[in-house]
Amino acid sequence: MKLYNSASHKKEEFVPHEPGKVTMYTCGPTVYHFAHIGNLRSYLMEDVLEKFLRYDGYDVKRIMNITDVGHLASDADTGEDKMVKGAKRERKSVMEIAKFYTDAFFADCKKLNIKYPDVVQPATGMIDDYIKVITKLLDTGYAYVAGGNVYFDTSKLEKYYVFNDHDEEDLAVGVREGVEEDTNKRNKNDFVLWFTKSKFEDQALKWDSPWGVGYPGWHIECSCISMKYAGEYLDLHCGGIDNAFPHHTNEIAQSEAYLGHPWCKYWMHVHHLNTNDGKMSKSKGEFLTVSLLEEKGYDPLVYRFFCLQSHYRKSLVFSWENLDNAKVAYDKLVARVAALSDDPAPVDQEAAAKYKAAFIEAVGNDLNTSLGVTALYDVLKADVNDATKRSLIGSFDQVLGLSLLEKAAAQREKAAAPVEGAEEIEALIAQRLEAKKAKDWATADAIRDQLKEMGVEIKDSKEGTTWTRV
Ligand code: AMP
Ligand code: ZN
Repeated sequence: MKLYNSASHKKEEFVPHEPGKVTMYTCGPTVYHFAHIGNLRSYLMEDVLEKFLRYDGYDVKRIMNITDVGHLASDADTGEDKMVKGAKRERKSVMEIAKFYTDAFFADCKKLNIKYPDVVQPATGMIDDYIKVITKLLDTGYAYVAGGNVYFDTSKLEKYYVFNDHDEEDLAVGVREGVEEDTNKRNKNDFVLWFTKSKFEDQALKWDSPWGVGYPGWHIECSCISMKYAGEYLDLHCGGIDNAFPHHTNEIAQSEAYLGHPWCKYWMHVHHLNTNDGKMSKSKGEFLTVSLLEEKGYDPLVYRFFCLQSHYRKSLVFSWENLDNAKVAYDKLVARVAALSDDPAPVDQEAAAKYKAAFIEAVGNDLNTSLGVTALYDVLKADVNDATKRSLIGSFDQVLGLSLLEKAAAQREKAAAPVEGAEEIEALIAQRLEAKKAKDWATADAIRDQLKEMGVEIKDSKEGTTWTRV
């Protein structure tokens, strides 16, 4: 496939280190709160990429960390620890918070058909590895101790800003804006590998280390977890675009300094989901979660469909109106699939191969999911039998993850099932009609209320009265 590589700033042919196998690393959530649907956009698009690589014949090993320690509110090593902040808010321990929100995250992923990674590793389970890597970085002169903390020395690198073509000074100023200076740092972009002199007296999680009792900086976990499960050469590293700098930049700095050779070849960054008033937030405005979508009556897969309709390298604006449009389109799509016959005719293999090739061509071009969805509509319109259409829809959906055949089957089952209590409902509707004819409005209204209590909504029209269960 062709994939845009943030490290080379170009679309490139994807060639893994070992033929046929892909090691894929995803920066996991910081588990101090629910994920918002912006975070989930990143995981969802990464899931499509993973599924596409599998569809294209690769054996994929997907690795994800869980940040349960060390991620400060600001990426520049300052601000409050997000986990401690979450624990205080809910009067729970940091580990309780981590467990609760890790489970909540994967429950959301499941609802969005995001596959569970092959490896999930909490950051707190890898302390010995961090100490090993930091020790070597100190021994080889890439790190130094100052004011009790261990820092990575970015001046030792030939190239630090790998993802940006910006002027170094501009970037450094941007990062430091509004952020208090850490006078221990020798260079403005040096970052913490290990904290012992924390600003927080009440830091909940601490471990012994050669540099004193403390805790790791945020970036070290991803380097160590990746190396543990993927070895010295990682094929593909993913994350939201805000992770590119400083998080991924620092991951590369410390991993390559430690290994002494290039580490990860392809970097994939998903652009942000925004609201009309800007950046999505967990604390300001409406906190958009999967549960909120469900409360408002949306199937989470409608959100998945909404995301697939646009490209991962463009920011996307979320609004309820946009989601409504996606809902209408998704429901129609399911209805069209449900309307296909169960025709047992043989699948037209020649036509199927042609449509599959078109789908691979579309999605294989830097994950163009909206063209992938178009390829699906092309199948529905195609001049082939319904068995071929069903087979192709099932096939494409291995990548798109929209549960189209399952939803269509459920819809057909519901339509065919005899409705419990239908006779009683019909009888009440007939009585109400009689009452209306006799202009006995009180009785007619009382019957409507009675039906409502039974969970039945009625609608009057010229053709008569119809009813649905709500
Ligand atoms: P966090 O839990 O804050 O570490 O974020 C989890 C993931 O969500 C990271 O890969 C972020 O880059 C990504 N992310 C954060 N905000 C957004 C957003 N508004 N849209 C898409 N991805 C986001
Ligand atoms: Zn990471």
